[in-house]
Amino acid sequence: AETQFFRDTWAEINLDHLTDNIKNIKRHIASDEMKMFAVVKANAYGHGDLQVAEAALEAGVHGLAVAFLDEAVSLRKGGIEAPILVLGASRAQDVNLASDYNVSLTAFDLDWLKEASKHLKPDARLKLHIKCDTGMGRIGIRSADELKKIESYIHSISQFEMEGIFTHYATADELDDTYLERQLGKFNEMLAVLDERPEYVHSSNSAAVLRKPDTHFNAVRVGIAMYGLTPSQEMKEVLPVPLKEVFSLYSRLIHTKEIKAGDKISYGATYEASENEWIGTIPIGYADGWIRKLQGQEVIVDGKRSPIVGRICMDQCMISLPLPLKTGEKVTLIGRDGNEAVTIDEIAGKLETINYEIPCIISARVPRIYI
Ligand code: PLP
Repeated sequence: AETQFFRDTWAEINLDHLTDNIKNIKRHIASDEMKMFAVVKANAYGHGDLQVAEAALEAGVHGLAVAFLDEAVSLRKGGIEAPILVLGASRAQDVNLASDYNVSLTAFDLDWLKEASKHLKPDARLKLHIKCDTGMGRIGIRSADELKKIESYIHSISQFEMEGIFTHYATADELDDTYLERQLGKFNEMLAVLDERPEYVHSSNSAAVLRKPDTHFNAVRVGIAMYGLTPSQEMKEVLPVPLKEVFSLYSRLIHTKEIKAGDKISYGATYEASENEWIGTIPIGYADGWIRKLQGQEVIVDGKRSPIVGRICMDQCMISLPLPLKTGEKVTLIGRDGNEAVTIDEIAGKLETINYEIPCIISARVPRIYI
């Protein structure tokens, strides 16, 4: 269904770029048996989970991964039939819901499994991936002994199915492999004590997929690279495939005016024109995730970079225009206009954070348009 919106600010999600990224990553993996899970948690990193899931499955991914059961159920309700794995912890009392929706859960602790088994209906069927904490320190079992106990416990409960086993790297996006090799070694030691290898064995996120073939096993979990973003700045030097940004952000001038030297702009009256100057107002503000720290960030208007001046308000902000322009003129906050481009990495740099955060923080109030 077409998104209806009545404001002049929108995010454009380029599903062709998403498709190209997935196909290029798959080509890089170069194995027909390798199963790719598209990580679509957090509303597909802010891109729209259902639309991204559909496009990713069309492009050849095998299944989807999310953080919470809520996200998995929402995808099922949206009509997604492919395998879905919940990577994070689910509540033990919700296991029947996972069974009803045929959603695979992460088993990260023996006590959780015991609790879950008490709640399970006799006819339930719960698919589980065991999470090994090999050095991330988040959730997961930390020793081969625990793994053996968990494996035999899962086999002792008829409604449980051990479908997978996985781990997650803390430093895959760093070019120094010392810590990753230690984690990989630990994961291999844990795999060696299993009576039986489950269907899916996986450990790679985007960075490991792109850089470390020996982490691939038989399935991979790809998030950030699919959205066209490089997992870290240092990885830009060694990127084996081209990545095209999927997310861009636009607005329009809703009011323009010429102000005189000495006139001030926005809350606190902190910006003062030093000479006559054209100012444009755009309808985006911190409630859209265009946070106040972005004051001074440049946007592109009429093919030229123009700074945000004065404080960013909740719903609006002002830009200094390079020339008199009329209302309705398109403004590019993230994306390309002519020879100029503002990348997500530039915004992340300005905010002293990682690119992952940027599409995630553009709030639900900003409509996503799919092209
Ligand atoms: N696997 C797990 C367990 C994750 O938490 C994440 C995301 O943080 C991913 C895979 C995907 O990582 P990336 O977006 O770096 O590919």
